Amino acid sequence: MNDILPEASSTFRYLESVVQGIVASYGYSEIRLPLLEHTELFKRSIGEVTDIVEKEMYTFLDRNGESLTLRPEATAGMVRAGMTNGLFHNQKQKLWTSGPMFRYEKPQQGRYRQFYQFDVEAIGYEGPDIDAELIIMSARMWQQLGISKIELEINSLGTPEARASYRDALIEYFTSVKNQLDEDSIRRLEQNPLRILDSKNPGMQAIVEAAPVMLDYLDEESATHFSGLRALLDAAGVTYTVNPRLVRGLDYYSRTVFEWVTDALGSQGAVCSGGRYDGLVQKLGGRETTAIGWAMGIERFVALYEACGGEVPTSDADVYIAALGSGTLERAFRLAEELRDTISGIKVEMNLGGGSFKSQMKRADKSGAEFALILGEQELTDGCIGVKPMRSAGEQTNVALEELAATLEQKLR
Ligand code: ATP
Ligand code: MG
Repeated sequence: MNDILPEASSTFRYLESVVQGIVASYGYSEIRLPLLEHTELFKRSIGEVTDIVEKEMYTFLDRNGESLTLRPEATAGMVRAGMTNGLFHNQKQKLWTSGPMFRYEKPQQGRYRQFYQFDVEAIGYEGPDIDAELIIMSARMWQQLGISKIELEINSLGTPEARASYRDALIEYFTSVKNQLDEDSIRRLEQNPLRILDSKNPGMQAIVEAAPVMLDYLDEESATHFSGLRALLDAAGVTYTVNPRLVRGLDYYSRTVFEWVTDALGSQGAVCSGGRYDGLVQKLGGRETTAIGWAMGIERFVALYEACGGEVPTSDADVYIAALGSGTLERAFRLAEELRDTISGIKVEMNLGGGSFKSQMKRADKSGAEFALILGEQELTDGCIGVKPMRSAGEQTNVALEELAATLEQKLR
């Protein structure tokens, strides 16, 4: 679990704000959810025989003896919240949320035990139009931020019935190569053979490659749904490859699944992943409800943005106010507030803790400020202030206090 220090935080905040702006422009609303849910919720939604539920959850008993789990992902909580609050009752919802998720994984570059996700869900839409919108919306993020090293993979998992016959074919195939399977896969063979396709074990790749593919087992309606999605993506100019082995690590998916992957970040290549989960609401005790969503790992998003040469707008101060001599500090404080009142968004840093002229100028330099504003006793008497350019050549000038805001507004533009 990482501390996200100020410099990294400013990149997080910047990218999050860009993404929030984009999803808002598509009409998605924010929902804020608890970090803890009943363990049962994740077992039932994600599925018992998955990496997350088998070995990645932080689960504990509370003082009342109830089993609770730190959320490993957002969809289950989103659906639980929608059901608890009647949000899916005869209405559609387009929602987003973001925050920390927790998984007991082996920490490494791009894989952490507390990580951040940005999560979008659309509930009550059948698609494939919404499937396309969600993908187009994610494509816009890369485009707007100049991220080029990313590719889209899509697949369809069909209906649960179609998947059942695919499951039989997989069991037959994997049984025939059982002596080459690893321990995890043998355990999953009977219960959840689809999970074997999601294996991260390099030694399993050749066997997985040769397995039957879902697209050959797709039911007709899902096939139509899938080609509808492809047509909309084609029309929107979003390029993709169909990856018939993309199954995703959670049990609740049906029909559309997709993943944005990059090879710019080493082995942790999945940046943004999602899919349709039409059966989940019902599985959790609600009515039959269609749903689809995606989740993006913010750490990987940040790393990819940086790998593509992305920069973050500076968080440096605009002006640094130095106060020297008796009575100047009070006036300087008032001035700082006046500037914040009049110039929208200006970053004003006050010199705190006194100090000589030299040490105050040193701090002004370190703040990154464009200008140091120097208020000494003489300036106070004359009703003016010294304006010293810190980043460009040019002389210090004296500006009347009542003209300062207007002058700075001009200079900082
Ligand atoms: P992976 O295959 O890398 O384990 P996943 O399929 O488990 O990913 P999802 O459950 O789909 O991931 O989560 C959505 C996104 O969250 C991923 O695409 C990834 O960007 C990010 N993510 C998942 N697990 C972690 C983690 N432990 N640390 C950082 N980011 C993560
Ligand atoms: Mg995982």
